[in-house]
Amino acid sequence: MKVYLNGKLVEAKKAAVSVFDHGLLYGDGVFEGIRCYNRLIFRLKEHIDRLFNSADAIKLEMPMSKTELIEAIVWTLKANRLNDAYIRLVVTRGIGDLGLDPRKCKSPTVFIITDKIALYPGEFYREGLEIVTAETRRNLPQALNPKIKSLNYLNNILAKIEAIKYGVEEAIMLTYNDYVAECTGDNIFIVNGGELMTPPVDVGALEGITRDAVISLANKIGIPFREKMLRMEDLYEAGEVFLTGTAAEIIPVTKINKRRISGGRPGEVALKLMREFKKLTKVDGVRY
Ligand code: PMP
Repeated sequence: MKVYLNGKLVEAKKAAVSVFDHGLLYGDGVFEGIRCYNRLIFRLKEHIDRLFNSADAIKLEMPMSKTELIEAIVWTLKANRLNDAYIRLVVTRGIGDLGLDPRKCKSPTVFIITDKIALYPGEFYREGLEIVTAETRRNLPQALNPKIKSLNYLNNILAKIEAIKYGVEEAIMLTYNDYVAECTGDNIFIVNGGELMTPPVDVGALEGITRDAVISLANKIGIPFREKMLRMEDLYEAGEVFLTGTAAEIIPVTKINKRRISGGRPGEVALKLMREFKKLTKVDGVRY
């Protein structure tokens, strides 16, 4: 397996970054997780745009153009002969000294790992996922905006540790004032009275590429949609709850904090969107 590292393809075992890299020392960097379906890199332009927005938000000057990054991704996929893959694109502040000062980091580190995808087991899609609410609150947008897909994922990891403690895969993260923000690595939607709803990203959530894809699919097939501030009660009372993310795609939720949701079965709207999403992964992206 070859990894792209600062302009070169290197053997995975030899792909190493410095202990002085501020990505490692401080989580100072940004990243993307991207899927490739049968040589179609799903919504790649949107991922690259989000990466640039994240970099902009942390004042990290990108060392490569968008086109160069796309070329580097395709180069890595081809070198590894991958048709279906999970792509991890990372840009760190680069090597500096032990202080925080980003000006000491002269050139950002860029690496691209392409690997086979690790999916949730199929039964979660057929039977639905059980999740819990984490005690850990989502970062305040005024402190570290969750819109920035930064290398600083401790907030999410603390909530993930709670999920693991309860023996489930995902946890809902609330805002400081008890609104639903998102899950540790997925956005969250509900369906009620035939209407599809998800929290606005300004509440403190990542603007998921899958979230956007689901919203455009809903518009296309005539499912009414709006962004809405949600509380836990809205989830308990919802006809359906599902999560979206690059790795998970669309995954129905049938139990939250031991309470049965949606009659304990994946809902019709989720199933319909899952079918539509599958079609989208065949056409919406950059082919190579
Ligand atoms: N929220 C968080 C915190 C995430 O890390 C992710 C990505 N794993 C998502 C939502 C879903 O975003 P996307 O659909 O772009 O993968």
